[in-house]
Formats: sequence, C-alpha cells, structure tokens
Amino acid sequence: MLPAMNIVWLKRDLRLSDHAPLQTAIAEGLPLLLLYCFEPSWMRHADSDLRHWRFVWESLRDMEARLAPRGIPLYWLHGEVLPVLDALRDIFEVKTIFSHEETGNRLTFDRDLAVADFCKKHGIAWREFQTGGVARRLFNRKNWEQKWVDAMSQPVAEPDFSQWKPVVLPDDFLQKFRANPLPPALFLPEKMMQPGGEHPARRYLESFLYERKSQYFKHISKPEEARRSCSRISPYLTWGNLSMRQVWQAARAATEHTGDRYNLGQFTSRLFWHCHFIQKLEAECRMEFENLNRGFDSIRTETDPALVAAWQEGRTGFPLVDACMRCVAATGYLNFRMRSMLVSFLTHQLWQPWQAGVHHLARMFLDYEPGIHYSQFQMQAGTMGVNTIRIYNPVKQAEEHDPEAVFIKKWLPELADLPAPFAREPWKMTALEAAFYQFRPGLDYPAPVVDLEKTSAFAREMLWKHKKDPLVKAENQRILRVHTKRKDADETSVMGDAKTVRRLAG
Ligand SMILES: Cc1cc2nc3c(=O)[nH]c(=O)nc-3n(C[C@H](O)[C@H](O)[C@H](O)COP(=O)(O)OP(=O)(O)OC[C@H]3O[C@@H](n4cnc5c(N)ncnc54)[C@H](O)[C@@H]3O)c2cc1C
Repeated sequence: MLPAMNIVWLKRDLRLSDHAPLQTAIAEGLPLLLLYCFEPSWMRHADSDLRHWRFVWESLRDMEARLAPRGIPLYWLHGEVLPVLDALRDIFEVKTIFSHEETGNRLTFDRDLAVADFCKKHGIAWREFQTGGVARRLFNRKNWEQKWVDAMSQPVAEPDFSQWKPVVLPDDFLQKFRANPLPPALFLPEKMMQPGGEHPARRYLESFLYERKSQYFKHISKPEEARRSCSRISPYLTWGNLSMRQVWQAARAATEHTGDRYNLGQFTSRLFWHCHFIQKLEAECRMEFENLNRGFDSIRTETDPALVAAWQEGRTGFPLVDACMRCVAATGYLNFRMRSMLVSFLTHQLWQPWQAGVHHLARMFLDYEPGIHYSQFQMQAGTMGVNTIRIYNPVKQAEEHDPEAVFIKKWLPELADLPAPFAREPWKMTALEAAFYQFRPGLDYPAPVVDLEKTSAFAREMLWKHKKDPLVKAENQRILRVHTKRKDADETSVMGDAKTVRRLAG
C-alpha cells in the first residue's frame, strides 16, 4: 500500500502567514507536501514575462528560508500540474489537495477544470479556500460590501508549523521535474524591480502605513512622486506575499495609531476596489477577450501594427507616453493615472482595439492581476459602457503632473538638455531653437505619430455617438445587473460602495 499524504498546492498565495489551506492541511495531521509548479504553458503565455517568474522564485526562496530551520521542504517543480499530480499518485496515496481559489486567465481556468476532473476520477478531494474578498458562484452583488467586510474582519489563519509532518520526495522524482531547466535569468535579481517575498512585502507595507502615506493622496497621480508616496504593495497582493485581510487589518490599526483618516481612508477604499474588479472577471470571464459591452464590437475593428509598435516601444513622439512606457519596461511599475493615460492613448488617440495592447502591459506590470487588468483596460477604453469616458491628453497630463519634466527627462535622456516646456512638447521648437539646443527633431526623438487634437476629437465623437446605440444601452442594463449593487448605478458607484465599506467596518 502506498503511503497516504495531502498536498498544499501553492498558486498565487506565496506566503506562510494568513494561509487557510496551509493551516487546515497541517491540522488534518497527514504527511503534507508543499508544492509549487512553474507551468511551462503559463510561462510562455502572451500575458507572462520573466519578471513575474523571478518574483515567484524570490517569494519561494523567502518561504524556504523560514521553513528550512524547521526541516520542512518546499518543493518547486518545472512542469504542468497534471503530470506532476499523476506522477505523485505512483508513489503516494494522495488524499486531499488544499489550495486557494484563483481568478486567473483562461489558461489557468482550464487547468483548474482539468485538475478538478483529475481529482474526481482518482477519488482525490480538492478543497479550495476563498481568496481575499472575491466570492465564487456569485450571481449578483447583493450585500457584497458586507460580505467583503466580514471576510476582512476574520482572524488571520496562522498555520501551526510545529505540527507539520513533511513529505520527502525521492531524488529521481525531482530530477524528472527539474530536468528541464528554468531560464537562468530568472535566478538573477533585477535591482530596478521590487523583490518578491513576505519580508520585503512587510517592509513596503509598514513603511507606507507609518511614513510614506503622508503624501499619498497628494502624489497619487504624479508619475515620479507616486513611486514613493503610493504603497507599492500591488505585486505582493498579486502573488499573495500578503493577503488582503492582512493589509486591511494593518491599515485599520495604522489609522487608529496615526489618526490619518484622510490618506489611509483613500488607501483602504482602493483595497476594496481590488476585489471589486477581480469579482468582475470572476463573474464574466469572457472579458479577457471580448468587450464587456457587446455594443462596442462594431468600432475599433482594425489594428495598425506600426502604431501599436510605436506605443509599445515608447516612440510615439509624446514624451509623457514614451517615458511611461520605458519606465514600466525597466521597473515593472507605474501609478494608476499613468496606466490609464497609456490605455487612453492607445485606444482613443491611436484608435486601436484594447486587445492590441493588453498583453504587452500585462507582461510589463510586475503586479499583473488579470481581474484588475482586464477590467481597467476596458474601463479606460470605454468598452464597459457604464463608466464615464475619459480621454486623457498626454500634454496636459505632463503639465499637471510633471511640470518640470523630471520624470520625462529621467526616462528620455535624449530630451534631458531641453527646457521643461520643450521636453514636454518638443515639436513646438522652431528650427532656430532646435539648432540652439543641438536637437534634431525626428532624429533624436520621433515626431508625434498622430495629430492629438484631431484624433481626440474623432474619438470623442465616435464614442459619444456610439453610447446612444440601442445595443450599448441594453448591454449597460445587463452589466449593471450583474456587476453592481443598484440597477440605476453606474460604475462610479464603486466609490460610494467603498465609503459604505468604511462605514460598515466602523
Ligand atoms: C490599465 C490599468 C491596468 C491595471 N492593471 C493592474 C494590475 O494588473 N494589477 C494591479 O494590482 N493593479 C492594476 N491596476 C490598478 C492600479 O493602477 C494599481 O493597483 C496601482 O497603481 C498599484 O500601485 P500601489 O500598490 O502603489 O497602489 P495604491 O494606490 O497604494 O493602492 C493600494 C492597493 O489598492 C489596489 N488598487 C489601487 N488602485 C486600484 C484600482 N484602480 N483598481 C483596483 N485596485 C486598485 C491595489 O491592490 C493596490 O496595490 C491597473 C490600472 C490600470 C489603469
């Protein structure tokens, strides 16, 4: 008879604290295997980048450092989950798999369905636990805020490691699933990006809650200042180095301690938004590929590869757009307003379908979280129908949020010697001025790829006209029924809902 064991399958929950699957599995008492699979199909998927897997690797190392003194191994393998589980069945009697629920992309959704079938076929129980405030099998948002507050207010689930009976995997098994090496660059730290792991996650959270938060709301839209004044906890939530509950409870304690209800109130509202947007993808997963509002299917039907390439490579000729793109490529981070502006520029000023750029930014964002990403992309592109359409003017955004062109000059060194107004709008230089600054327009930096005034006016007209389309209106009603609490609400009601959450929490 094969020895019996349980498995904790780590997904996007790479931590040892507040981990209900781990806590429950240890309490069951059977020998327990802690498993992570680097899945080749996911690693080569269009939304995936090496930066994500480096972050995962760093997170696993951080967990290992805490487990090793207790003699508990954490096994990472390089292989698809199903063959790994199948091979484990050859040497163990697998009783139960414990994991968190995952609201991922179509690929991980299909993989989960296949794992569920596999478990059913082989008599293995699969126990999944809710992730943050995102609920499964939810058909409307009735009482969603209250449920969210209840989930956040639960005590954190701390595993009792002293009771853990580790499973040891034989060498030949490990060799089989480590024979195919991971890309070597994955093991090299990238100094420009945030490191993965529970320890750095806690450092970022503490320094924000007790120091950096003081300028949070003042700087939230500024590309340079936001890098310090925003929390920067998003990759830690995405990859699960922190649970939403831990962050929410820490933020409430910090609010009591510091009395800063203004900045921390804004921050906790955004924690609620995090789950609100993921819940949208959970409810309607086709939004990874299709317009949430089907009424928009008839516009922006063609892609211009040259324009999309200029946008991706940061050579549109609009300095703030290009600086943002180069910055996110190098660091994995951009603040919310600049992310919105990039999508607005792609979909409105360049008039490209959002699908043409969604994978590129998914790869660039270290915090790529499918539920937020697809919802926000569609919101900024206006294809949700229910929210106000915002067409950001990158020149005005630069005037307001980077007046001295500090951020622009940092990421576009070719503009570093120009006075700030010309760094923001290089096309405004006369030939004489260009000669004076030894700047060669179109050579040192590209000329604008579009006429901003014309393309903005075109987008505004098209979108507002289209909003009156009967199909758009009918779809809006359906979307409001499924994704918001009130039938007459629009998407901005999420702001009000976040306030309700703060009131419910007391
Ligand atoms: C086109 C686009 C794509 C985006 N893609 C992602 C993504 O893949 N992953 C991701 O985590 N965020 C995404 N966002 C939301 C937002 O930009 C980031 O969460 C935020 O900039 C992360 O920085 P921070 O941790 O310093 O945020 P803070 O302002 O400190 O906020 C704290 C946390 O609240 C949540 N949050 C903040 N703003 C939002 C928001 N508008 N919507 C939902 N949750 C929010 C995040 O979890 C964030 O970490 C996207 C926004 C846009 C416009």
